[in-house]
Amino acid sequence: MPDIKAEIKKEVSRRKTFAIISHPDAGKTTLTEKLLLYGGAIRMAGSVKSRKANKFAVSDWMEIEKQRGISVTSSVMQFEYNNYCINILDTPGHQDFSEDTYRTLVAADSAVMLIDGAKGIEAQTIKLFHVCKLRGIPIFTFVNKMDRASKDPFELMEEIERVLGIRSYPMNWPIGIDGDFKGVYNRKLKQIELFTGGEHGQSQVSSQVGKVDDQVFADLLGSHYHGKLCEDIELLDMAGDEFDKRKIRSGELTPMFFGSAMTNFGVQPFLEEFLDLAPSPGIVEAIGSEIDPESDKFSGFIFKIQANMNPTHRDRLAFIRICSGKFKKGMSVRHVNAGKEVRLSQPQQFMAQERTIVEEAFAGDIIGLFDPGIFNIGDTLFEGGDNIRFKGIPIFPAEFFSRITPADTMKRKQFIKGIDQLSEEGAIQVFKQIDIGIEALIVGVVGALQFEVLEYRLKNEYGVQLRVQNLPFRHARWIKNEGLDPRKLNLPSTAIIVEDKLGRNSILFENEWSIRMAEERNKDLQLVDIATQD
Ligand code: GDP
Repeated sequence: MPDIKAEIKKEVSRRKTFAIISHPDAGKTTLTEKLLLYGGAIRMAGSVKSRKANKFAVSDWMEIEKQRGISVTSSVMQFEYNNYCINILDTPGHQDFSEDTYRTLVAADSAVMLIDGAKGIEAQTIKLFHVCKLRGIPIFTFVNKMDRASKDPFELMEEIERVLGIRSYPMNWPIGIDGDFKGVYNRKLKQIELFTGGEHGQSQVSSQVGKVDDQVFADLLGSHYHGKLCEDIELLDMAGDEFDKRKIRSGELTPMFFGSAMTNFGVQPFLEEFLDLAPSPGIVEAIGSEIDPESDKFSGFIFKIQANMNPTHRDRLAFIRICSGKFKKGMSVRHVNAGKEVRLSQPQQFMAQERTIVEEAFAGDIIGLFDPGIFNIGDTLFEGGDNIRFKGIPIFPAEFFSRITPADTMKRKQFIKGIDQLSEEGAIQVFKQIDIGIEALIVGVVGALQFEVLEYRLKNEYGVQLRVQNLPFRHARWIKNEGLDPRKLNLPSTAIIVEDKLGRNSILFENEWSIRMAEERNKDLQLVDIATQD
């Protein structure tokens, strides 16, 4: 049907699906809100609910999760701008940093790396950056909080290269730093854009635009700022990297923008340039084949499962990233991993403020499906008879480990059930210590808060009180060598050998030093820090 093909092509090409990666407090919530403001999805800034997990005790946080059902801020927000259909994926940060944070990046076609101009590259940004790099998606840099004293922009460029190993290309350049941020210089158009208004970030700002050598700007800025700007531009043009769209698309060069999410200065120029450069959904690799987003056959994979949103029902929402074709409410698709047909009923989509039932959706979109317990993370859904299967979603490195047992040994069955459920959701990674048996499981998590969530959920959903013993390990490494007997390895005394839930051998280490020691003592040993689910 040519009509459908044309419709899919058009819809796919106007979609931009991305995630914002940043360290807590860099301004992700504020920037997200301002993008929605410019997209007309909200009228006044300040209306996106604060979701600061660190303001609440864990139990409050769990209650909040339940009460709000699935909040927009915990999954994805969709809005329109200049005929683009934009999906912003939320990457949970703060204390609720977990595997979900990493996994969300698997569903994104590009990432915006948000940096606090005064602080530069921070720890959590580095971790998230590496996941994006691994996927080879384009990474855009927005240097935020330019309204305050910040590091020198050249210094920030140098830091990005030194810490992250990626070259940057400033798309614009700040005018007036150290608390006197006036505007940006647009390198492509060789134009100055000075901002005014915006009611302290409540509404869109006005701007005055013109050529850099226009006397008006020299007068407006004064000779100090104008002179400095002209010098900086000359230096950038001479010593900086060339603009290279191919390198941007492959994630080798990051386009860099300066602005202030709080005052809105620089938000719109960023949004427009970003939408122009960021890729629409592209080809997705499946096992043994490639899926074209414009194919008329629906396909998608599940990257996140959120369980027990409604305390009276054991319901779960499975989040699907659509990879190709057109989704229609109530359609039947093949659940490839389970080998059966399923009807996709009650699909949910998330607009700026509320969730709505979705009638149709296209590649690049994220929808939440009511899940009666048939979906797992990494599952492929496909329209049509073929058994295509997307590659498994990586298991990201856990950083905290505990040995857990049920406080009441009579509750072992519920304990196992709860642990299985949480492990299926991808909230925890389960290991067994070799030669010690299964009496005490070792659980690994990406964020420390997950242990409290684990205890809370096992108690409330399965009636099991846990005994938790924290372990000193910080790194899990999978052994890549086929057929190697890990017991024959010469390991540092602090490391232990474990099996993951698929029976694969791995080693838990306390620090980087002991990993290096293990590698040195066992020259053939090959260790990897990210495994796949299958
Ligand atoms: P998140 O933790 O990354 O979501 O950060 P938030 O958006 O909640 O911002 C953290 C703090 O930084 C808040 O107090 C914001 O008001 C403030 N903030 C965000 N953007 C800016 C900015 O551009 N300039 C200044 N001065 N403060 C900002």
